[in-house]
Amino acid sequence: MAFRVHCPNCNTPTVILYSNEITRDIDGIFAKDLYCQCRNPDCLATSVVRVSHSHYVQPPRRHVLDMAKQLLKQEQQQTLPLGEPL
Ligand SMILES: [Zn+2]
Repeated sequence: MAFRVHCPNCNTPTVILYSNEITRDIDGIFAKDLYCQCRNPDCLATSVVRVSHSHYVQPPRRHVLDMAKQLLKQEQQQTLPLGEPL
């Protein structure tokens, strides 16, 4: 399913003319302004729609593997026998 932006004035589908990444220098945050032009010849309004990442439904595979490795490391550290006092 494609993401489609509709005109806030007449609800006609728009064309995204260009976008501007507004969080370019901020790690872990993603947001863009989409400059959209209405395709209705009687309207032709141009508007800005801001889109942003909210959360993962399924995190990237690398993140899951890193979390699993971290959990295994913690478990191994907890199960290691304590050293004998000198
Ligand atoms: Zn319109």
